[in-house]
Amino acid sequence: MRNWNEIIGNKRILDNLKSVVAENRPAHAIAFHGPDGIGKRTVAEIFAKSLQCENRGSSSEPCGKCRSCLQFDSGNQPDVIRVSHEKAAISVDDIRNQLIAQMQIKPYSSPRKIFIVDEAEKMNEQAQNALLKTLEEPPEYGIIILLTNNMESFLETIRSRVVCYDFMPVGTDEIKSFLIKEKKIPDYQARIAAGASGGCPGLAYIWVDSEEFAEKREYSERILKKIGELPAGTIIATAKENAKNKDDIEFFLRMLENWIRDVLVVKGGAPKKVSMFTEEIKILKKQADSLDYEFFGEILDAIEVLRERLRYNVNAEISFEDLLLRL
Ligand SMILES: [Zn+2]
Repeated sequence: MRNWNEIIGNKRILDNLKSVVAENRPAHAIAFHGPDGIGKRTVAEIFAKSLQCENRGSSSEPCGKCRSCLQFDSGNQPDVIRVSHEKAAISVDDIRNQLIAQMQIKPYSSPRKIFIVDEAEKMNEQAQNALLKTLEEPPEYGIIILLTNNMESFLETIRSRVVCYDFMPVGTDEIKSFLIKEKKIPDYQARIAAGASGGCPGLAYIWVDSEEFAEKREYSERILKKIGELPAGTIIATAKENAKNKDDIEFFLRMLENWIRDVLVVKGGAPKKVSMFTEEIKILKKQADSLDYEFFGEILDAIEVLRERLRYNVNAEISFEDLLLRL
């Protein structure tokens, strides 16, 4: 990504950040919040690059030619620091060594020093407490950007000090066009990946030509095509064999939702409006004819119950089985 117009979705956030850049008035502590793959890191990178650009003037676009931009593009802008971590958690040492200590050193060549903390929800409590003082009294040049999929993981003291941007799912069509342009893949493949990504272009981008995606898609479709026909035992066995964790289950749920939406469109008498599984129109029609609205309504309800339980980690396995039994 080289500039703002290459980013898709979340236009309101981008517009806001662009005006922050143009007016040169960034907050010292910022949080980008949203699911993995939605574009938080990409936006943070462009934001940092733009702020550091030496030739930007009152524009929000990085020039791409100045020393800072060239350093940034080669991954060597010394005043943009990405805090990394090796273990499962971001420890107090990670924060002390890579952020707090570095923050005390003035920027090398730019007016600002920008720290990007990816997966900031992994900061343990000590790390957050250590960060707090720097968040409260940052030097004039200091900017900290926390990227997180879970604001709840932050102490209230951290939450109350950051300017938070909530990233929203990106439209399926937008992701689809992006995939076709970037990966040169067929429309149908791009559409399925976009639909299964839940509005996260980064996920769809990684998935679309991966072996993992092909496998997940294959087994999901195998079940979807047989809704209403397969014996319960077979469905449960197939799904459990393939959906081993939360992310796998969520993938299956999105495929299922998209499938049901298409069946219902056919059932409503508008087969031309099928948006996802256009190559399976015969099977969609067959299910639309043989299964009633109540049947699909119950499945959609079961999906909601399962999602809720996955969110709180309670009895998800039982709810997953319950959902599968209804198919
Ligand atoms: Zn520049």
